Amino acid sequence: MRDVVILGGGPAGLTAAIYAARANLAPLVVEGNEAGGQLMLTTLVENYPGFPDAIMGPELMQAMRKQAERVGAEFRTEDATAVDFTRRPFVVTTQSGERIAARAVIVATGASARTLGVPGEQRLMGRGVSTCATCDGFFFRKKDVVVIGGGDSAMEEALYLANLARSVTVIHRRDRLRASKIMQERAFKHPVITFVWNTVVEEIVGDGVVQAVRLRDVQSGTVTERRTDGVFVAIGHVPNTGLFRGQLELDDAGYIKLRHRSMTSVEGVFAAGDVHDHTYRQAVTAAAYGCMAAMDAERWLQQQDR
Ligand code: NAP
Repeated sequence: MRDVVILGGGPAGLTAAIYAARANLAPLVVEGNEAGGQLMLTTLVENYPGFPDAIMGPELMQAMRKQAERVGAEFRTEDATAVDFTRRPFVVTTQSGERIAARAVIVATGASARTLGVPGEQRLMGRGVSTCATCDGFFFRKKDVVVIGGGDSAMEEALYLANLARSVTVIHRRDRLRASKIMQERAFKHPVITFVWNTVVEEIVGDGVVQAVRLRDVQSGTVTERRTDGVFVAIGHVPNTGLFRGQLELDDAGYIKLRHRSMTSVEGVFAAGDVHDHTYRQAVTAAAYGCMAAMDAERWLQQQDR
């Protein structure tokens, strides 16, 4: 039986592991097959404090994992395939069939940016294709970029990029935005932002780096190619909570709802990072949430012992 099992090996899970290990809770991290989370898909990280010369996303995650290991966290590099939060101890089952009993569980399985699924998108991810303007916008100073999507995220990305790029073109599949009125107004007013309506991306084109997008007008069927330096895909995120459906309370978008501090609807199960936070979604905020969840879990375990 484990005191703490942590699900997820991104900044939230690894920070929770560091804090739990240093609190003598000998945490086991089920880090998943895609350990490291979204930072593994990022290139240079310039906004994580402590790295004045920037650091590559994967390198940062490797350092966090090493730190967690050094202070005593244990790892399983496989996915959790089932959880049972209906009774205590909780049970986490992994891909290899291992059943791990846990007094407390910290869920830090993150979220994944929704992608278009068009040719070129995966191949050029990090080479001009991005799902995070705050992370990558800086590399597109004085360049031409397109933003795909019509929701608040897309407007937020467009407005952020508008302060850096030479031109920002929002490409949306309908003739009106889904974004809130205030975000729409801001985007419409901005001199650098223009809109292309009723248009979908069919392909992202580039030899090593993004050079253009192939677009199709959904009304006329006309296909055109538009030159661009960057493609920001902002069509929403999907929290990785499929495993917890029916066991933890989720909001309408599928994110975990917190009840008290970092505790979920099940006492003894805590959540950290993008799996519950759809507002900030930064490595540094995810790490902070990981710290909070570990401290809350530690205090809760102490109360149980008393
Ligand atoms: P969202 O509201 O679901 O919007 C997604 C957008 O992407 C929609 O315009 C949708 O088009 C488009 N889209 C989805 N799949 C697509 C595809 N395959 N190809 C092309 N376009 C596609 O997601 P979000 O913008 O990430 O926002 C999520 C939630 O967070 C919302 O409640 C939002 O208000 C909130 N949020 C708030 C803020 C803020 O207030 N500052 C910032 C970010 C997010 P359709 O419109 O045609 O469906």
